[in-house]
Amino acid sequence: MKTAPPPLPVARTQGAQIVLEDGRVLVDGVASWWTACHGYNHPHIRAAVARQLERAPHVMFGGLAHEPAYVLAERLAALLPGELDHVFFAESGSVAVEIAMKMALQYWINRGVAGRTRFLSFFGGYHGDTLATMTVCDPEEGMHGLFAGVLPSQVIAHLPKDDASEAELDRELSAHGRDIAAILVEPRVQGAGGMLFHHDDVLRRLRRLADRHDVLLIFDEIFTGFGRTGDLFACAGSGVTPDIITLSKALTGGTLPLSAAVASRRVFEAFWSDDTGAALMHGPTYMANPLACAAANASLDLFEDGDWLANVARVSAGLKAGLEPCRAADGVVDVRVLGAIGVVELERAADAGALCRRFAERGVWIRPFGKVVYLTPAFVMSDDELGQLTRAICDELGQDR
Ligand code: PLP
Repeated sequence: MKTAPPPLPVARTQGAQIVLEDGRVLVDGVASWWTACHGYNHPHIRAAVARQLERAPHVMFGGLAHEPAYVLAERLAALLPGELDHVFFAESGSVAVEIAMKMALQYWINRGVAGRTRFLSFFGGYHGDTLATMTVCDPEEGMHGLFAGVLPSQVIAHLPKDDASEAELDRELSAHGRDIAAILVEPRVQGAGGMLFHHDDVLRRLRRLADRHDVLLIFDEIFTGFGRTGDLFACAGSGVTPDIITLSKALTGGTLPLSAAVASRRVFEAFWSDDTGAALMHGPTYMANPLACAAANASLDLFEDGDWLANVARVSAGLKAGLEPCRAADGVVDVRVLGAIGVVELERAADAGALCRRFAERGVWIRPFGKVVYLTPAFVMSDDELGQLTRAICDELGQDR
């Protein structure tokens, strides 16, 4: 082994299970990086993709368009809060965040406001692996510390969790506000930066600050969108609408790559002009791929027809009951659950590779990172499968590591 252990070859996936080439079956605690919310290989999504495959697997989205994209854009606009109704499709989460950042920069350029070139984001945040998105991740926890000093610097602050920290951020914005194009935050849960939960009040404070200093507010719901925290979108409970929201991961139920940056009418209107130079110049080759849009529409059918809400509540209760005993294990500093996210936080970073291997030997697929061992299962996972996952974590952490 050099920098990473060899991957396990997968033969197929089904429901909440990963079947390996050697015949072993792993119960999946990660849902393939939080995408496969309805379980793998769902027949409704598979059928929709198969139908679209017959009609048009792909066609360029410049000067041409297609029904799966129109329908999906309309459905997303109807589901999202407020006036978030102008949808720009791309193929990955990082690119959706890049597009949101470009929209924010160009919003100010188009309005004739110079100098709004930086972003304000947060410690604990993670927004992607591309060059621009690396700059708005937590410089230490966001995995990109190696590039500190090479990339352009942004303003990275602490989340405003109380009046004192809101006042501090207010001062920060007074100092930098005229340079800042937008504030960028993951609502409710900062995912890959540490699985950190925060209260809806944080979003209300951020909206207040963004309005006071006249900067845009971007919510990155690439992890939290589509039911993961118990609401269809994590910002729903806060009553706050951002100016731009980014979506991906569970958008297609974990079947095909697709993402979206959705802008409010206010942002859109800065681009809607007789001057073609005001257009947002971004056109990824596979943007709005019809197969991916068909998969996303089928996934939304499942959200409309299915009992995902009851399933997330059931999974949440199973995570709470199953992970609670870990609290007593040596080196565990916190156990927390929100929606279908269960987190055990350790005092010190674990040997993630070794832990992952031992979990696989116990028949479960769990990928710890940093100080965090977490579960983000499919919402349809059975209670037995969930029990297997939580028991594996409690047993493993109860051992002398
Ligand atoms: N934003 C958030 C909140 C994420 O969790 C992720 C991925 O984990 C991304 C952006 C980047 O998405 P992708 O890996 O699809 O580029």
